[in-house]
Amino acid sequence: MEATYVCLEYPSNRLTIVPCSLERSIMSEFELIEKYFKQQAIVCPPVILGIGDDCALLRGDPKKCQAITTDMLVEGRHFFKGTSPLLLGRKALAVNLSDLAAMGAQPVAFTLALALPQVDTAWLQAFSQGLFEMAHLYGCQLIGGDTTKGPLTISITALGEVAEAGALRRDGAKVGDDIWVSGTLGDARFALEAYLHQRPLPSDVDRLHAPTPRVLLGMALSHIAHAAIDLSDGLVGDLTHLLKSAQVSGTIMCDDIPMSDSLALEKDEVRYLCTLSGGDDYELCFTAPASAHQAVLDAGRQTNTRVTKIGYITPFVEGQAQLQILDRHHQPYIMSHHSFDHFL
Ligand code: ADP
Ligand code: MG
Repeated sequence: MEATYVCLEYPSNRLTIVPCSLERSIMSEFELIEKYFKQQAIVCPPVILGIGDDCALLRGDPKKCQAITTDMLVEGRHFFKGTSPLLLGRKALAVNLSDLAAMGAQPVAFTLALALPQVDTAWLQAFSQGLFEMAHLYGCQLIGGDTTKGPLTISITALGEVAEAGALRRDGAKVGDDIWVSGTLGDARFALEAYLHQRPLPSDVDRLHAPTPRVLLGMALSHIAHAAIDLSDGLVGDLTHLLKSAQVSGTIMCDDIPMSDSLALEKDEVRYLCTLSGGDDYELCFTAPASAHQAVLDAGRQTNTRVTKIGYITPFVEGQAQLQILDRHHQPYIMSHHSFDHFL
């Protein structure tokens, strides 16, 4: 029996339709866990007991806080049916690591809850390969999970460690801080548009399917920045969460937002739509005191990550968090809900 997968060759990002054989072997839940997950999981400190018992056991650093986060990916909701399982394995963990990064935490371990419509060994092989690639890259060990039959759903809970004073909480932003972002914004939204209209992918790397969690930058910023959030739902929405949480307002310059060369070629409304409200970028947005300007640049250089100042934090306006967006003429940019209609 054959299934057809749309596979993205990473990192060349070419879209190819690859027939994958669906060797449907009769494999028990426990054989599946053993073959695709337990055998590749490393057990080393701080993990004392990994996959195979009722719970995993870890001995954490008593001087640090545990940072814990969960993110779920559901087929048809967060990814298209037929998405490359290799990229899905990487992304499922990457989006969780991005949350740890936004806290300034060092990844330690994760659990994997998986609902599968059927046992598809080719899919499992590629998925676990992608998952462990990402896990090994960031030193994060798979310590357990749950496996069940059901609509394709991947839910990961990741655990990290951070010193309490170094945690990049959203409520830490202070009036006078600068607002920064990592990397470039808008590419994932731009890529989504290409998929929906079946156009060639716009950038060199498919940011929609292959986000880079900014773990090293987050850790480097842990004692430099005041607050951070990772950008999963778009800059304006996510930054507003941070402002509300810290009870401050903010001003950003929409022409200072960094973007890829291909997005920069687009007309203003497309660039603004993608960079201001496009989701799935998994870059960090963080605030740091103006006095830490050089330290932020150094953190970016040390971790090989582009960092760009895009605005500053101001006081609450009439008891409310307001996000002001200014264009290159220093005029307020009003985000139009109709801009979506004008897209491409
Ligand atoms: P229990 O019934 O005690 O919760 P299970 O029978 O569900 O345990 O799972 C057996 C072991 O396999 C447990 O250690 C569990 O954490 C692990 N496990 C189950 N599914 C996965 C998975 N998808 N990835 C990693 N470990 C898993
Ligand atoms: Mg049990």
